[in-house]
Amino acid sequence: MNILILGSGGREHALAWAVMQNPKCDKLIVAPGNAGIAAIAECATLDIEDGPTVVSFVEENAIDFVIIGPEAPLAAGVADDLRAAGILTFGPSKAAARLEASKGFTKEICDACGAPTAGYARFDDAERAKAHIRAQGAPIVVKADGLAAGKGVIVAMDEATALAAVDDMFAGAFGGAGAEVVIEEFMEGEEASWFVLCDGENVLPIGTAQDHKRVGDGDTGPNTGGMGAYSPAPVMTGAVIEKAMEEIVRPTVAEMARRGTPYQGVLYAGFMIEDGQPRLVEYNCRFGDPECQVLMMRLGAQALDLMLATAEGTLDQARVNWADDHAMTVVMAAKGYPGAYEKGTVIRGLDALPEDSRAMVFHAGTAEKDGRIVAAGGRVLNVTARGDSLAEARDRAYAMIEKIDWPEGFNRSDIGWRALG
Ligand code: ATP
Repeated sequence: MNILILGSGGREHALAWAVMQNPKCDKLIVAPGNAGIAAIAECATLDIEDGPTVVSFVEENAIDFVIIGPEAPLAAGVADDLRAAGILTFGPSKAAARLEASKGFTKEICDACGAPTAGYARFDDAERAKAHIRAQGAPIVVKADGLAAGKGVIVAMDEATALAAVDDMFAGAFGGAGAEVVIEEFMEGEEASWFVLCDGENVLPIGTAQDHKRVGDGDTGPNTGGMGAYSPAPVMTGAVIEKAMEEIVRPTVAEMARRGTPYQGVLYAGFMIEDGQPRLVEYNCRFGDPECQVLMMRLGAQALDLMLATAEGTLDQARVNWADDHAMTVVMAAKGYPGAYEKGTVIRGLDALPEDSRAMVFHAGTAEKDGRIVAAGGRVLNVTARGDSLAEARDRAYAMIEKIDWPEGFNRSDIGWRALG
């Protein structure tokens, strides 16, 4: 079959890499793609947030199946346009993608189905929000309701920070995303993510992961899109997974179906786990980046079969063929990230690295210039490895990093520290 993947990050390179291993894939196009993806698939320039444009492209190129990587096209309703045109699509409708696009909506769903989450209040007015913060005291969490690329959440350890966050949000720091704010109780515990596929009704878990959001070793410094991840997450024990399924994920999926907006795609649930009890922090309506890289490394070719079963509504018959393995990805970023950084610096040494089922460098912000790979973004490479243990996966990933010659780049040296002890 002919397949189109929308997106351009390390997540989409990992998806493309897994899809290409499956004999069902005759042809793969990724739009817009990046330099790493261009080495394994055709890349096309396309406005991926414009549904009619994507539908025309799919029809012109005889595409049989579309996989939507990032949240923006989902929130824009591209999956709805594709399905309306009769095209098999992996990714939730605009209405179902509100589980990520509106934090207030997610809270409403949690209330309706009784899913454990932080206590909260919603405000569309700064003064009332600030009065609530003064009444509750710190620590407290202030969130812009809408999509803010992971930057619209302020975990305030003191009241002044929380009050200032409210003022910033209502002053338009996050544009329309901050027209409403959600103020939440601060939750203690350890965070982990769980990825499940949903076909509207059936739910199939495909792995747990943990990521490192802070830029510096020891989880210090400013927040980033993610500096590394590993799977599985030891904190997601069988008992925690069972609670997460029965108390949070299954009730959410049932509530979405009950409302006439069934969820179809990957549901990424972020939990805070304390004393073996998971509470929902957030939902995302797509794979995490960089978590997708470790999940694809572990799933390999079967990822395509699972995504097809999701889109076709046959997940009740699908099974994951698990290996008892571990995967880790370490992000290499341009020096300066998440602040200002240089673009166009040359990365050498990638050709000499292994590319197999145990070791892959997924590209995020890269481009090709005069036959050389250059940095074209903040997060640039995802050095990913699999092993029989997490320590083995880590050693393999860091051994690859040693061979990458990119003086203008950096990476954290301690990915997985919590799980490795
Ligand atoms: P991202 O896309 O980066 O995951 P987001 O903007 O969707 O972020 P959330 O996941 O809701 O926002 O919050 C970001 C981070 O803030 C969480 O990963 C968690 O570390 C912290 N956080 C959010 N809510 C709470 C809470 N109620 N208590 C404690 N920490 C929280």
